[in-house]
Amino acid sequence: MPARFDTYYDNDDLSAQLAELVAAHPTLARRDVLGLSHEGREIELIVLTNTATGPDTDKPALWIDANIHATEVTASMAALYVIHSVLTRYGAGDDAVRRILDTGALYVVPRLNPDGAALALSASPRHVRSSTRRYPYQDKQDGLHAEDVDGNGRILQMRIQDPNGDWKASDHDPRCMIKRAPDEHGGTYYRLLPEGTIHNYDGHLIKLARPEQSLDLNRNFAGGWRPEGQQYGAGDYPGSEPEAQAVLRFFAAHDNIFGALTYHTYSRAILRPFSMKSDDEMDTADKFTYEAIGQRGTDLTGYPNVSVYHHFRYHPKEVISGVFDDWLYSDRGVFAFTVELWDLPTAAGIEEKNKEKRFIEWMRFHPTADDVKIFDWIAANAPDQLHGWTPFEHPQLGPLEIGGANGFLTWRNPPPHLLEAEIAPQAAFALAFADLAPRLAWRALEATALGDDVWRIVAVVDNTGFLATSASQQARKVGTARPVRLELQLGDGATLVGGQPAVEVGHLEGRSSKMAGGWFSNGATDHRGKAEWLVRAPAEATLGVTAHGARAGTLRGEVRLA
Ligand SMILES: [Zn+2]
Repeated sequence: MPARFDTYYDNDDLSAQLAELVAAHPTLARRDVLGLSHEGREIELIVLTNTATGPDTDKPALWIDANIHATEVTASMAALYVIHSVLTRYGAGDDAVRRILDTGALYVVPRLNPDGAALALSASPRHVRSSTRRYPYQDKQDGLHAEDVDGNGRILQMRIQDPNGDWKASDHDPRCMIKRAPDEHGGTYYRLLPEGTIHNYDGHLIKLARPEQSLDLNRNFAGGWRPEGQQYGAGDYPGSEPEAQAVLRFFAAHDNIFGALTYHTYSRAILRPFSMKSDDEMDTADKFTYEAIGQRGTDLTGYPNVSVYHHFRYHPKEVISGVFDDWLYSDRGVFAFTVELWDLPTAAGIEEKNKEKRFIEWMRFHPTADDVKIFDWIAANAPDQLHGWTPFEHPQLGPLEIGGANGFLTWRNPPPHLLEAEIAPQAAFALAFADLAPRLAWRALEATALGDDVWRIVAVVDNTGFLATSASQQARKVGTARPVRLELQLGDGATLVGGQPAVEVGHLEGRSSKMAGGWFSNGATDHRGKAEWLVRAPAEATLGVTAHGARAGTLRGEVRLA
């Protein structure tokens, strides 16, 4: 069954789609298992490369993962869309896709957290932040836990009439709830609560319980990891969770990965490190490169590109730690972005939110008119996600009403019929990013006869890509990208009479290094490396030469002594 992008696939359907795509493109796609989730589900990894031109590990690679946060299922569909579009466009002869799969690879994990997604997409859903492991406590906390109490398959809101309530029904539409003004009295007011039940209710006090499963896998990485008291959801220690471990191990074993996209919802933003510190502390050349890549993303998707520290903080005086993309850049030197897909307020026409880069500030405060705009948008574009306030006899709270918008398919994810329009441009950005890979190509592989069966061998390799063979300067600082080496393989009857078998030629710059030059040009050949050897061997012999290029992969060549 062909993949559809007007629905959200559960684990079984997603796996079936991936299996079908891989089976239809056996030379371009492979299914691996990255690791097992907390509940023992396989975390699927799709490796995309043209195996006829070499294995993925010899090629520069872009990493894409999605759905580390349980309810952010748009992200999985965006990753599936990338896989689908790469495979179909390769067959259609698309130049960029051919270049990317012939000379590079993509590692795509469409659902990094299958346990959490299984709960979110179940017929009686539960919404957890990320992992389904009980955390930080084993016992259920007293207070309100969100769940589908009336059994309609959705977790909505409960409203209870209360003279001290801070909400009221709008004159505009009785289904639309708006904030009570600070000095307002004499109306009908409501208390709004998530649909749910109260653990150990005493008949008077309602508190919002900390969810039983409040671990956040995207705070569990080693990037500046801090414990629970300083970072909500951090986990027991950096990489304590199996999903994070699987990712950490994969990166340690794949130094060919130069870039990464991690798909989330929501805000319509392309975020980059740092989360914990200012851009002043980032290597300047890396910052320029980050901005250049981010700008391609903005051009292709319309999403602004910003640093988390400067423009995406949940609290003006706090930072977040243990985030995947921070670890990737800070500790691995990989250019990594977190892409926040979809945004209901901007879809509803509230442009200042993103234009002014007030992604989070807007959540804290905005005019009532914005709430009405959002309500009208849902009523017009996703009426089936809007529920009128319906009387319900709550087992603990007595008579109340359940209603409001289904946040899962309005706030967290677009209504299904708008999914494809949201995610399609992301594939364009992913491919543009993949196309920035460092790429090794032989400029010269020459043998010159010097007499007496002695030959001078000259190997010159170019980095023809945009990024340097280390990808970032940070990778050089932290030592995760080894300098480029040119290596000679002699074979039978040949001996080395001058030079070392392996010659380190340093990191080869890409065109990214020329961006800081402005109008005055810097045409130096800092993208080129050269090695020479003297060899004694009979004429007509063939020698092997290999260039190992860190993030650029491995290039193999031959010299014929003639
Ligand atoms: Zn997220």
